[in-house]
Amino acid sequence: GRKFFIGGNWKCNGTTEEVKKIVTTLNEAEVPPEDVVEVVVSPPFLFLTLVKSLLRSDFHVAAQNCWVRKGGAFTGEVSAEMLVNLGIPYVILGHSERRLLLGESNDFVGDKVAYALSQGLKVIACVGETLDQRESGSTMDVVAAQTKAIADRISDWTNVVVAYEPVWAIGTGKVATPAQAQEVHSVLRKWLHANVSAEIAGSTRIIYGGSVNGANCKELAAQPDVDGFLVGGASLKPEFVDIIKSAT
Ligand code: 13P
Repeated sequence: GRKFFIGGNWKCNGTTEEVKKIVTTLNEAEVPPEDVVEVVVSPPFLFLTLVKSLLRSDFHVAAQNCWVRKGGAFTGEVSAEMLVNLGIPYVILGHSERRLLLGESNDFVGDKVAYALSQGLKVIACVGETLDQRESGSTMDVVAAQTKAIADRISDWTNVVVAYEPVWAIGTGKVATPAQAQEVHSVLRKWLHANVSAEIAGSTRIIYGGSVNGANCKELAAQPDVDGFLVGGASLKPEFVDIIKSAT
């Protein structure tokens, strides 16, 4: 079976005081054990080591991005090697905010995923269509092209979690229906089956992101191909604990 995965993407939010408060809430929460649910929170770079040092040992941290290749003269960037050096196990790559606001292409994201994996990081790789793309019927083409750019560059998927995050559902309060999420997750899994392998299709976690909250998580979690969530806004609030509990 695929272990349920709950990620909290804090995006560009938080002060030291707020970060400490969130961590305290998480540390005091009663949640299912680590063999039932994998919990990963992703603070901004500046808070990564603070959160890592304070956070309970059964929860883990992720960076929200890293540089595409080995570090060097790349002002403003943070390399995969640095994350490894600091004991940060995970990195989120290809988030739609970076694809759309910072112009990250499918190839660039694919290169990042391959490089981060090569350095020993675990990767949460994000894919998802815009509203225009959904309305024009190209959702699966878009998601397949984003996934193909990754599949073309890697062979070992053990350390990859795929996050399906429809752009129209991110930060909008407009969550995908359980049926909409299940449909894309199922087609994505079939894509992996046809283009990578049956084994990888069966073992790779495909998680959903986009306006997940404490109220809608249960029904989404019940879908057979929804293996967890990548949570934005609600991951900054105590209700993140309720979302973690939806794993059981
Ligand atoms: P929201 O949960 O705020 O919609 O954000 C989802 C997301 O982008 C997680 O990466």
